[in-house]
Amino acid sequence: MGKSSVLLIYTGGTIGMKPDPVTGTLVPFDFNGIYDEIPSLRRLDVELEVLPFEPIDSSNAGPEVWVRIAESIRDNYDRFDGFVVLHGTDTMSYTSSALSFMLQNIDKPVVFTGSQIPIGVLRTDGRENLITAIEIAASKENGRAVVPEVSLYFQNRLFRANRTIKQSAEELSAFASQNYPALAAVGVGIHYRHGAIMPHPQEPLKVHTTLSRDVIVVRIFPGITEPVFRAMLSVEGVRGVVLETYGAGNAPTFGWFIGALEEAIARGIYIINVTQCTSGAVNMDIYETGRRLQDIGVISGRDITTEAALTKMMLLLGSGLSGEKFVGAMKQPLCGEMSLD
Ligand code: ASP
Repeated sequence: MGKSSVLLIYTGGTIGMKPDPVTGTLVPFDFNGIYDEIPSLRRLDVELEVLPFEPIDSSNAGPEVWVRIAESIRDNYDRFDGFVVLHGTDTMSYTSSALSFMLQNIDKPVVFTGSQIPIGVLRTDGRENLITAIEIAASKENGRAVVPEVSLYFQNRLFRANRTIKQSAEELSAFASQNYPALAAVGVGIHYRHGAIMPHPQEPLKVHTTLSRDVIVVRIFPGITEPVFRAMLSVEGVRGVVLETYGAGNAPTFGWFIGALEEAIARGIYIINVTQCTSGAVNMDIYETGRRLQDIGVISGRDITTEAALTKMMLLLGSGLSGEKFVGAMKQPLCGEMSLD
């Protein structure tokens, strides 16, 4: 069997930075020169090709960038065994969650990674993240990809991308997946948790590139007032709301609060309930404060992250789903983004 081939898509972020020798400020470096920056990459038994985008800070990444990544993978799908996407860490969980929904029935690894310290700095975490991400993207067993899904590799752990959140602006272990186990742990070897990895799909790849932007995230807080809450739900054109509630999906039971939600639902707005906690799930059956939301038609997001709920809504609304079909699709995992029990 020949070498595995991997396409390295570089979108920007800290990983692609190095100090300017004159000014000392961080500037992006030309990723086509990656072998000069990390000579040990040559020792990997992988055919590597680089596809550099104009580098951006991931705070500026949104649906246009997601679509560009999806199209790059689609256009190169048959030529490569796997894909590594280098991305800023700040919004990596959003982008990779979006990609997990956009690349339906993916049968090859798409591994997102980045770094907290620029690759051109001696103590960088980017070198290990990059090399291991490439190894994972190239890994095959009996001629088939070991991790046929969109994943995120950071600091010795491989996660299902749509389960991750960025948890730290300081620690090298910047990402967490609180509600789903790591797909692999990396020590001396790469130890895959095969039972946690997506099975190979039965259907061919289908790439969705139409996303709706008519969605908002509303994080409730103690002291929120009726005019503020109503204003958020009344933003023109909004069709979907990710409602970040307390604990197991609880929210105030004040008449105006429930009334504002009821009116929004009556106007055809979909509301999904996700918890502000970083682990655990929404269960609207436990308390009166959650039950009221369920009674008026708020959808339970169970243990989904805000990042996955938002991007899933963008995709489903963009695909033209509405009514019961939309609600049914929101309640079912599309690619392992939530647990059913
Ligand atoms: N601000 C950077 C970004 O997300 C941070 C990073 O890459 O770690 O693009």
